[in-house]
Amino acid sequence: MKILVTGGSGFIGSAFIRKAVNELDYEIYNVDKITYASNEESLKDIYSSSNYHFKKKDINDTKEIEYIFKNFQPNALVHFAAESHVDNSISSPEVFLHTNIIGTFSLLKESLKYWNNLDKKEKNKFKFLHVSTDEVYGELTTNEEPFTEKTPYAPNSPYSASKASSDHLVRAWFETFKLPTVITHCSNNYGPFQNPEKFIPKIITNIIQNETIPVYGSGQNIRDWLYVEDHVSALFELLTNNVCIGEKFNIGGNNEIKNLEIVNMVFDIFEKNNFKLKNQNPRDLITYVDDRLGHDFRYAIDSSKIKQVIGWNAQRDFKKGLESTVEWYLDNKWWWEPLRK
Ligand code: NAD
Repeated sequence: MKILVTGGSGFIGSAFIRKAVNELDYEIYNVDKITYASNEESLKDIYSSSNYHFKKKDINDTKEIEYIFKNFQPNALVHFAAESHVDNSISSPEVFLHTNIIGTFSLLKESLKYWNNLDKKEKNKFKFLHVSTDEVYGELTTNEEPFTEKTPYAPNSPYSASKASSDHLVRAWFETFKLPTVITHCSNNYGPFQNPEKFIPKIITNIIQNETIPVYGSGQNIRDWLYVEDHVSALFELLTNNVCIGEKFNIGGNNEIKNLEIVNMVFDIFEKNNFKLKNQNPRDLITYVDDRLGHDFRYAIDSSKIKQVIGWNAQRDFKKGLESTVEWYLDNKWWWEPLRK
């Protein structure tokens, strides 16, 4: 299988590519602009693999995308490329519109051109897999039922609004032009190779560096957490399964946890394993800061559709996944230290 991947040098995209090349023997072409959020080191083990190709380009460079389609002839496009940090979308929204909305439009346009020229057999095989987020559904109160694929869109942040816009474009390219698309809405991912600007790696790396751990509000916001490799395995299942063209799928970990609880779980892991810390009382590092503007209170995701349709289930126990993530950041300072601001 030949897959054109966008944003493959980021957190989830690199996990996808490592599995595709190392375990599945797929051929991958990665187009990534290499923004501050990416790290080329995440893929250094497969740089020299004959199954891996890379071009440092913006997804809005339609000439280049057209050229890659023509020469690589992929069976699928998996679209991860995005500006993905909510805080940045509040301070600098423009780039979110450029990449997440216009960038998705550029890819849809080039994909359709390519797909229209394929022969019938190849046309039937092709998929445009758009990786979106549960944040497009807005927020839940404590007792509301989890998001299903039928939950109306209600994005609250510039980030989620830009992802929602891109989802609408993807849907329209299926409804209008019949481009074979699939949209996924995943909950919060965690695991190795995640930029230390994000919540879990920030807690871990700040503890290691003896720096304050900023917790928004009183830390009561709730997220559903999924180990990145579980997310990636769901995407491969969707790619290789026939039944899902034009549909959307929620992907969640069934792991609703309050932010403050996660901070304490990370401390518990450090303490249980006697990891050496610079601070005698590391829990003093927790610092409550003003809440994020428009901070969504709770996300929870109902993944029963993907379970029923393709039999996918999250495999990784959260405590074990968190423990191995802490160990990874302890063992791989070379990877994350240069990324910290
Ligand atoms: P990330 O920020 O780690 O990686 C994004 C990648 O896209 C980076 O390598 C960056 O260089 C690249 N990129 C950005 N703008 C680009 C452009 N204009 N052209 C080409 N490449 C560009 O993000 P991630 O956490 O890996 O998320 C990947 C996708 O999954 C995103 O679409 C995000 O919305 C979605 N998602 C993420 C999560 C999560 O918890 N991380 C959850 C649900 C959905």
